[in-house]
Amino acid sequence: MRTWYIEDAGGGCRAFSEVLVLVSEKPREVYTSLVPLTWQTGQTLEEVVLELVLEMMSRAGVTKEDQILVCSGNIFNDLHKYLQENQYNWSTARMEGLAHEIAEQVFFEQIVNAGFPAYIKLTSRNYREFYQLVEKWVLENKSRLRYLKDRRVRQKPIGNKYCYKANRSRPRHCSKCHSSILPYTPMVECRMNVHGKKVHRYYHPECSPVKPLKNKLVTIETTLNGQPTCGVVTKSNREERCTLCQKSIPAGQPAFFCYNNDQLLSFHLSCLSIMNTPAEA
Ligand SMILES: [Zn+2]
Ligand SMILES: [Zn+2]
Repeated sequence: MRTWYIEDAGGGCRAFSEVLVLVSEKPREVYTSLVPLTWQTGQTLEEVVLELVLEMMSRAGVTKEDQILVCSGNIFNDLHKYLQENQYNWSTARMEGLAHEIAEQVFFEQIVNAGFPAYIKLTSRNYREFYQLVEKWVLENKSRLRYLKDRRVRQKPIGNKYCYKANRSRPRHCSKCHSSILPYTPMVECRMNVHGKKVHRYYHPECSPVKPLKNKLVTIETTLNGQPTCGVVTKSNREERCTLCQKSIPAGQPAFFCYNNDQLLSFHLSCLSIMNTPAEA
């Protein structure tokens, strides 16, 4: 049984290809791949990375009996999923040693080959500072802009995981500003897969870190007591009472919800349309 290490480098830098490495220490064997700066296949970054790693694993002849230690970074999300589903002997690990050294070294070589001064080096994992210097160097000269990563292809799919919708009866906690998202108000829901587990995060629309590409939010503008008011149409997950007719709005039935001076008002959709129909003179 052999132990393989899978590591990446350069993902945090806006320029130059991410480096992927597959390494065995005993006996020493090294495979490296570069993620292209851009691609036209519509794949996500994680999918491109998965393909490149599988290709290295096949060249290396990695078997399901071998032990595989993978860096826990998001860039390997699809790889983690693949290894799990295909019953490899794997786990995530913080990378030190050969895999980490080689990944950093190959990323650095890329930069130096492009003309970046070789005496400026990454010291004691101070990535932020080093990447800032590299980015500054790239932006200094128009002819170097071709080394920038295409952020569009790397970001595009993330928006698919974010969706505008209306919160239901339970207040939620905003993952950005940490204050409460009121019941029956617009919010952004993010559904992610983290190591095969479904993780949900919620944001105020203005707090969302990514512009959502999905939208399940329905809003209606109406007039209440002469005041223009905007509210949401959503299903309730508990019974509510209609502000107009005082009858029950059963759980699961779409209804209109809005706030008037911090007070929640609920209406049957039929009662809302009655309210909005001008009275006959
Ligand atoms: Zn917020
Ligand atoms: Zn009603």
